[in-house]
Amino acid sequence: MDLFDKCYNFKEAQEIRQLGLYPYFQPISSEQDTEVIINNRKILMLGSNSYLGLTVHPKVKKAAIDAIEKYGTGCAGSRFLNGTLDIHEELEERLAAFVNKGNALLFSTGFQANLGAIAGLVGKGEYVILDKSDHASIVDGSRLSYGEVKRFVHNDMNSLKKVLESIDKDAGKLIVVDGVYSMDGDIANLPEMVKLKKQYNARLMVDDAHSFGVLGKNGRGTANHFGLEDEVDIIMGTFSKSFASLGGFIAADKEVIDYLRHFARSVIFSASITPASTAAVLAALDIMENEPELIDKLWANTGRMRKGVVDMGYDIGTSCTPIIPLIVGDNGTVLKMRRMLFDEGLFVNPVLSPAVPPNKALIRLSLMATHTFEQIDFALDKLYKVGKALGVI
Ligand code: PMP
Repeated sequence: MDLFDKCYNFKEAQEIRQLGLYPYFQPISSEQDTEVIINNRKILMLGSNSYLGLTVHPKVKKAAIDAIEKYGTGCAGSRFLNGTLDIHEELEERLAAFVNKGNALLFSTGFQANLGAIAGLVGKGEYVILDKSDHASIVDGSRLSYGEVKRFVHNDMNSLKKVLESIDKDAGKLIVVDGVYSMDGDIANLPEMVKLKKQYNARLMVDDAHSFGVLGKNGRGTANHFGLEDEVDIIMGTFSKSFASLGGFIAADKEVIDYLRHFARSVIFSASITPASTAAVLAALDIMENEPELIDKLWANTGRMRKGVVDMGYDIGTSCTPIIPLIVGDNGTVLKMRRMLFDEGLFVNPVLSPAVPPNKALIRLSLMATHTFEQIDFALDKLYKVGKALGVI
């Protein structure tokens, strides 16, 4: 067998392309606002994670441009050596204060933050305990660690308790969950999890990729939303969503962060986040702290969309955030529906099995603060028309 046989034999993507249903890697040729240009057509964006719409905010764009003028385009080295800028440290201080932790550490992506933090912290003879719906970067970070990986049923606290009971009570344990789950749009049951982590002497890490800018005071995330900032030991965030940039961070006690500065391999052996990306996050933070009405608008938009689709008869599962899944059924129907919605002028994300259980394939809608009610009503019209045509509603 040749190593590349699997590549030459991989035909699924090509077959879906030939049917005109391939949904991935679609190039956008305009500003990434609520409306974008794809194939020379104006499309309403309902698939972006820029929940507050800040990637096109003039203050955020200007901060990035000014940072390039001052520092140049890249850092040409890791934080550990030549790649630390004063604005990296400023951002770490701002983020630590934002989430009420002792310190924070920047990474070049959120994916790298999870890899570096989990693999850096969980060693031989220790355990990392994951929700079955955790993000791929949490799964990969756990596999990279020398610890043993255990999993519990999605957001099921009895299942978590059973896992904790089954583990040596003196061993180090890290529970890692998403604050808001990116497929289901539901929120982790932090209050119960905190009780369990105390009972079983575990540490708790929350990936707030989809929670910053969405939950908590000024978008401070899930721990703040539940009033549990002191009880959640590690908060992880990405800059690729509400923070309108690229990069990620971990916030925790200052000793934990200092340890990670020296043991998180994805910090030490990877170039630091660019000046433009760093400055964009600082500007986005300013806006989040000073314009809370944006978050109110995000929730108003979410409420309007959710009511609209539920009234039509769509199944949105356990969603209670701006991520609204429309659970449709088999992969084929979802691919067809995605294409029909695109032809009607809507960009939505398909989520297929095996990313979700068989027959639970879904169309995922993500709301932004900058959507107008007119845009949402336009989308609802199209979702009704296509849902009826396919017999989904
Ligand atoms: N965690 C979660 C829950 C995510 O959804 C994502 C991004 N899709 C990441 C981590 C990775 O973040 P980044 O895009 O910054 O690599």
